[in-house]
Order: sequence, then structure tokens, then C-alpha cells
Amino acid sequence: MKKVCVIGGGPAGVMSAYAASLSGADVTIIERNPEILKKLMLTGNGKCNYSNADLSVESYSFDANHPFSNVIKEYDSTWLENLFLQNGMYTYVKDSLKYPRSEKAETVRDTLMDMLAKQKVSIITGKKVTSIKSSIDSDSVKVDNNSACEFTISFEDGSAMECDALIIATGGKAYPSTGSDGAGYRLAREAGHNVTFTYPVLTRLFTEDKDVLSLSGVRYKGRVSAYIDDKEVIEDEGEIQFTDKGLSGICVFNISRYLSKPIEEGASCFISVDFLPEKSDCELAEYLRKRLDLAGKDDIKVDALEDILSKMISAKIAGLIVEKLCGKNAGKVEISDDTVTKLVNLITDFKIKISAHDSFSAAQVTKGGVDISEVSETMESKLCKNLYFAGEVLDVDAKCGGYNLHWAFASGMKAGESAAK
Ligand SMILES: Cc1cc2nc3c(=O)[nH]c(=O)nc-3n(C[C@H](O)[C@H](O)[C@H](O)COP(=O)(O)OP(=O)(O)OC[C@H]3O[C@@H](n4cnc5c(N)ncnc54)[C@H](O)[C@@H]3O)c2cc1C
Repeated sequence: MKKVCVIGGGPAGVMSAYAASLSGADVTIIERNPEILKKLMLTGNGKCNYSNADLSVESYSFDANHPFSNVIKEYDSTWLENLFLQNGMYTYVKDSLKYPRSEKAETVRDTLMDMLAKQKVSIITGKKVTSIKSSIDSDSVKVDNNSACEFTISFEDGSAMECDALIIATGGKAYPSTGSDGAGYRLAREAGHNVTFTYPVLTRLFTEDKDVLSLSGVRYKGRVSAYIDDKEVIEDEGEIQFTDKGLSGICVFNISRYLSKPIEEGASCFISVDFLPEKSDCELAEYLRKRLDLAGKDDIKVDALEDILSKMISAKIAGLIVEKLCGKNAGKVEISDDTVTKLVNLITDFKIKISAHDSFSAAQVTKGGVDISEVSETMESKLCKNLYFAGEVLDVDAKCGGYNLHWAFASGMKAGESAAK
């Protein structure tokens, strides 16, 4: 019986172990934490948004033609839903996002634990892997060699174990308090792999703009567009959360995938917020003119303008926009066509300079990781026979909405099946 070891007891490692044992292997998961699936418990605010009904491959960082697209297509969201159902877990879909019906991450964890128990997968917890060694020396592993390659896995406490096939599913560097601190990259490098530069993504974005920071506590639905050196790169819509350091919310997390790297490289990055994306500039200008006429536009006070705007958008944002238009302590507002144009611009194109992104300690996902050009569609290393990868340790990331967990589950399934052969 083939002996398969899986390093990492996250969603990718657990699914790899399940798949490998289902395919007949003797499987052991090695997890450094006292228990497996620690990060899973935090996902989806504790509800675990485990997949998405609209699982387009374009949502992932790899090119749509990359062989990993086939992994997502083979193990799609219906496959995962059915697998959970077969193992006793009801699910539901809300706006295409998939959750356990209980709305509790514990249910997903318990279902996965039952699946492992049914397959008699061994789980070793509280042991950190510090090194892996293939029995074929590093020069010969790069040759397409058909001889079996055994691994020795060394632990922090000095002990070691051996296996015929090894799956690295150690996650990335995001949220290291859950155990994934980038240790897997070192293991991959030991096997000759290149690891691309890593950045925290799906994370908050910071600004030093005091006016924007004064909005701390405001939550408001709008559209955000990200600009790098004055070029628009991506836009998203949803609830924007203003905090004491900058911006948060799912749409902000999504655009952080495009800004983290340029921010670190020193590019000029800003976000433009459209507070009324459902209105065109013309519609908005016409409406504003009407409201200003009704208010007696030749003698309009700042308070009255603020009152008009606060019925259209959030009152706090309206206050800031009026301050930007008129300055502090202004009494009367001069209303002209130019004033209306400026108001429309402030409402639909409110620019916020971004100074930094949050650190790995609070980020949900890592961008970068094990170079995917060195890993085949079966999730096997192209450099080291019988070595496999699954989940976030690879240079694969996606937007919010269940895509990252789905990648962990789908790539885990593929890696486990392949490793057991
Ligand atoms: C707060 C938060 C909320 C999230 N919400 C969602 C969501 O709702 N939907 C979604 O799709 N994604 C979400 N994500 C992202 C998702 O959780 C990850 O993409 C996913 O967990 C990656 O799975 P993984 O198995 O590859 O890695 P991980 O879950 O990070 O698991 C890796 C495991 O390997 C272990 N390990 C690491 N190194 C070693 C070592 N040397 N020896 C032994 N063990 C080791 C770690 O302790 C860890 O248990 C969220 C992330 C966070 C932080």
C-alpha cells in the first residue's frame, strides 16, 4: 500500500488526505497546530463561504488557459456540494455564495473530520515539519526519472518519518496565527522549486488623508475603482467600510489583489469612489440643479446644501463633500454650472490616495507562492517525482466569495487522487 503524507491540516490538506485514502493509499496528515482546520473556523465570519455557484475560472489569478482551469472544471462547485451532501451536510446558496445550511464553519469542519475518520486517515497534530528530503539527490530529481522517490520528513522536535508520496498543503503566509506562516515555501525550495514574491491580499487599504479618516465608522454601498499611476486597473461594487486607518469591506478586499504589489513597489495608487453608481453624471447634475433651484439657488447656505446631499447619500459623506467644495466655516455657497459639475465629480469620482495595505497578520489570502509553471495539472511537481502541492501554498489566489476555499478543496482532491496512484 502506498504511503502518502500530507503536510498541513487545512482544507487543502484534509481534502488531499481524503482523496488519497479513497484511492487506496495509507495516509497521514501532519499538522503543527494542536488541531486541524483552524483557519477554516474563521472563514466567512464563522459561517464558512466554502464555494461559489458561479465558479468562473476568470476569478482566479492563473490564466484561463492554464491547466489548473481543468482542475476547477473537474471538481466544480456542484461536485463539492454533492460531496458534502453525501457526507451528511446540508448547504445553501445566497447570491451565488455557498455556505453550510447551519451557517456554522464548525459544521464544515465536523463533516470533514468525519470523512477523514471514515477513511481511517491518521492525523498527527502538534508537529511542525522543518525539512523534507527526497531519496534521489537534488541533481537527479530534475531529470524525468521513473524510479520511485521516497521522502524523509523531519520535524522540529528532531524526529522523522518516511513516505512514498508527499503532498505539501501548508497554506500561504496570511493570518499566521492560524499556523500558516510561509514554512511551506522553504520546504518547496528544498525540493528545488521557485517561490514567487508574496503579498498580503484580501486586506484593508490604508490612507493618510485626514478627511477620509474622519469618516471612520461609516458603511456605505458604492463603487470603487483602483488606479495605479493614473491608470484604472479594476473596479468593484459593494459596501465600503471607512475605518480609522482607511478602507475595508469586500469590494476593497477584492481590489487589494491589484494594489498590494504596486503599493510595495512605490507606485502612486489611489481609489476613486462613486457614491451613486446607479446614476449617470447627467442624471445627477439635472437632479442637483432641480434641488438647488427649489432651495433658492441664489441664496443657498452650506447647511442647506448639506441637507440636499444628505438625502441623496450618507449624511457624513455629504458633510465632507460640502467641506471639500466650500472649505471649512463657509457660510453661503456660490451656485453655478461649475459648482454643479464639481459636486457631481465629488459624488461620483471621490479620490482617495492609498498609502499602504494591511500586513499578513490580518490578510485573508497570500498572492504569490510556489511557481505554478513548475507544477503539472495532476498537482505533481515537475521537478521532483511523487511530490505534490495543493491549496494556497501555490501561487494561486482569487477574489472573495468562496473561490479561495474552493481552490483548496479542488486542488486537494486532485493532488490526493494523483498521489495515491
Ligand atoms: C479571516 C479569514 C476569512 C476567510 N474567509 C474565506 C471565505 O469565507 N471563503 C474563502 O473561500 N476563503 C476564505 N479565506 C481564505 C481561506 O481560508 C484560505 O484560502 C484557505 O484556508 C487555504 O487553505 P489551505 O489548506 O491551502 O491553507 P490553510 O488553511 O492555511 O492550512 C494550512 C495548514 O498547514 C499547517 N502548516 C503550515 N506549515 C506547517 C508545517 N511546517 N508543519 C505542519 N503543519 C503546517 C497550518 O498550521 C495550517 O493548518 C479566509 C481567510 C481568512 C484568514
